[in-house]
Amino acid sequence: MRIVLVGPPGAGKGTQAAYLAKNLSIPHISTGDLFRANISQGTELGRRAKSYMDAGDLVPDEVTIGMAKDRMEQADAENGFLLDGFPRNVSQAEALDQMLKSEGMKLDAVLDLEVPEEEVVKRIAGRRICRNDSSHVFHVTYSQPKQEGVCDTCGGELYQRADDSEDTVRNRLDVYHTQTEPIIDHYRAQGLVVTISALGAVTDVTERAMEALRRLKGEQ
Ligand code: AMP
Repeated sequence: MRIVLVGPPGAGKGTQAAYLAKNLSIPHISTGDLFRANISQGTELGRRAKSYMDAGDLVPDEVTIGMAKDRMEQADAENGFLLDGFPRNVSQAEALDQMLKSEGMKLDAVLDLEVPEEEVVKRIAGRRICRNDSSHVFHVTYSQPKQEGVCDTCGGELYQRADDSEDTVRNRLDVYHTQTEPIIDHYRAQGLVVTISALGAVTDVTERAMEALRRLKGEQ
């Protein structure tokens, strides 16, 4: 399956993507993780992306689209992928449509994770992420690690993302509403969108997502 995951920052895209990708045996491709890996490796691409990310703005399309395309062309993505954080505006969505079309492929679903705005701000302000694996996510009140600052899953160091500060989160939400939300209509016109609530336990959300994907597949 070829799936796109959309939702505001703090909807739990990274967490859900990791579970769904495992359940569906497809790679989880996160453009945010690819940028963060480039920044920590000190690459030219990372250098170009950093100031945009720190401000909560989108990295320009000419950098992002090429990077996403290179990743989707790797062998493990041949039979499907779960995109997390890409596309993030209509021109990226059009570039993706074009890229798939030229290979005779198409998307199977766009999974839209819905969460109220007040919840998003609470989730992000307390979010702590593992340096080893960004799908190992904790929260200072909702999901505390057994030992402060240490990942329960792998022992990695937990940190707060620089772009999770309150000011940057507000900008990321603005960017989401103005630039990313329009892709939902773009894909709705193709009959691909399934919207589910991202509230509640992580496993319940995963189950809701799997059920929605099964239903969509049955209808297609
Ligand atoms: P994420 O980890 O998905 O929240 O992404 C973190 C940051 O990386 C975003 O706030 C953007 O600055 C940048 N980024 C990730 N994916 C994209 C994309 N598809 N287009 C532009 N910028 C992106």
